[in-house]
Amino acid sequence: MAGNSSIEWTEATWNPVTGCNKVSDGCKHCYAERMAKRLFAMGNPRYINGFKVTLHNDLINVPRKWNKPKRIFVNSMSDLFHEEIPLEFIKQVFKTMNETPHHSYQVLTKRPERVVELANILNFTPNIWMGTSIENEKVIHRIDILKHVPAVIRFLSCEPLLGPLDNLDLNNIHWVIAGGESGPGARPMEADWVRSIRDQCNEQKVAFFFKQWGGVQKHRFGRELDDKTYNEYPKLTLA
Ligand code: SF4
Repeated sequence: MAGNSSIEWTEATWNPVTGCNKVSDGCKHCYAERMAKRLFAMGNPRYINGFKVTLHNDLINVPRKWNKPKRIFVNSMSDLFHEEIPLEFIKQVFKTMNETPHHSYQVLTKRPERVVELANILNFTPNIWMGTSIENEKVIHRIDILKHVPAVIRFLSCEPLLGPLDNLDLNNIHWVIAGGESGPGARPMEADWVRSIRDQCNEQKVAFFFKQWGGVQKHRFGRELDDKTYNEYPKLTLA
């Protein structure tokens, strides 16, 4: 539910909500769903509802106990802006984030419309990085929606990258993560799709992070692109 993470672009995960449902092509092989089913089968009490949206009130304050500053991925096992998550609960999650400015929070959603709807109610303190997933051209409109969110850092996760994204308007976007799909049934990613995103980030002066090539055995293929590892982070972070 909370702890160190093996995800390359974060340091810890915090899951006050688990469970979700699929909204676009990027969800097809959802890692969270796979994990939730496995944990349910193992009898893990957090997953008695399987992959249904489940609130874990007892985990709301977990980051307050971490004294050392961390980059924290919020809800790696769900989507904080899922329509079934009550506003009051989201407000509590934000309260914890607002009151722990020593941490940076990475909130990633495939439902940026709901973030915009709630933007006037929620307090986007500078330690909250708000991102949306852009896996292919079909969901490119999410970028424009994200730009209406008053977060100091806005980012895109182009993972699993399922097609070319050659016309990204990265104005007011501060960070882009790209990566291929991993695990069973992983859909292939072409190198030129990643190069194009890297080059657009370069031209538009946006930090670029290449997470992985992916594949069924992701560690075999690593994360170098043209002999270089891209580990950039947004520059607007607060000290
Ligand atoms: S939005 Fe994210 S967590 Fe939800 S089903 Fe899609 S990939 Fe999984």
